[in-house]
Amino acid sequence: TYRALRVEKTEAGIQASLQTLPTTDLPDGDVTVQVTHSSLNYKDGLAVSGQPGVLRSYPMTPGIDLAGTVLEDRTGRWQAGQSVILTGWGIGERQDGGYATLARANADWLVAQPAGTDAHWAMSVGTAGFTAMLAVMALEEHGVTPGDGEVLVTGAAGGVGSTAVALLAAAGHTVVASTGRPQEEAYLLGLGASRVIGRDELPALKRPLEKERWAGVVDSVGGATLAGAYASTRAHGSLAVCGLAGGSELNASVFPLILRGVNLLGIDSVTCPAPRREAAWARLARDLKPDALAAVTHTRPLSDVPALAGQILAGQIRGRTVIDVTG
Ligand code: NAP
Repeated sequence: TYRALRVEKTEAGIQASLQTLPTTDLPDGDVTVQVTHSSLNYKDGLAVSGQPGVLRSYPMTPGIDLAGTVLEDRTGRWQAGQSVILTGWGIGERQDGGYATLARANADWLVAQPAGTDAHWAMSVGTAGFTAMLAVMALEEHGVTPGDGEVLVTGAAGGVGSTAVALLAAAGHTVVASTGRPQEEAYLLGLGASRVIGRDELPALKRPLEKERWAGVVDSVGGATLAGAYASTRAHGSLAVCGLAGGSELNASVFPLILRGVNLLGIDSVTCPAPRREAAWARLARDLKPDALAAVTHTRPLSDVPALAGQILAGQIRGRTVIDVTG
């Protein structure tokens, strides 16, 4: 048997509960993984609280991230006992995910745990940190270079935002952290932000082109925040668009694209191809040492996930939460 947080749809509505299940309930797949850790992401909050749009069928085990050791791989690519990481590819959405002591996955989806790191570290990074890494790589590939000017991070006290601040600072960028939680200023300065501004200090979009301010932007908020940042990006600057914590709409004109050569870059961690995944995890292992992540990370047992889900949707979670699946 194995233990899992299951989300079921009943006449009473959508409900999550911890259950002990026979291994025959696992989905089909090449590799069986003994999961030790998962994490909490915004998407997991939506799934566990029964909000529509994340889980494609019921019952389902949420958890878009997992780390653990391989028990068996019928393709022969992974050896029993190897430490692996899995984020995205639809786990915890279309197929059972990380909130369980066992998981099944395609062999191609897994990434080897980088040398010198462990499962707890991997899940303190998780999809949020992996996405932040992809965002920073995208900005760099489009010419955002330390010394160019200020790089804005929106939703800075959240999971994607916190990791983006730390990664950009580690790469030598001047980081401006935007947050709706002024009490998190010391935390954000500690992660390497050079200054912290309030959510309401970002200029609202009035004209299609605003004063040029940002050399680069990592945005996890979307909506009016993204529209304002886009109109305020400097000529040939770039925005890595990651999320929609503040809204999914984008009211914008083409002017920043055609008059300033601004690059609006999409980030999708779920379908990110394997070689880029490996490159991102290698750089995360280099730039985000476990002690750097300790200040950002809390660890909680699987039984706390239903309560944590409500908190992440309410914007009350600081940084990253690792879920100890065995606890
Ligand atoms: P999170 O920890 O909850 O962080 C989101 C942050 O956004 C919050 O901490 C808050 O930051 C800010 N925020 C929340 N509500 C807001 C509002 N109404 N208006 C303005 N700001 C608001 O979540 P996360 O795991 O980092 O994910 C962030 C976003 O990225 C989510 O939309 C998620 O779905 C998306 N995401 C996308 C990918 C991808 O592959 N593209 C991967 C991971 C996550 P402050 O408290 O600092 O203001």
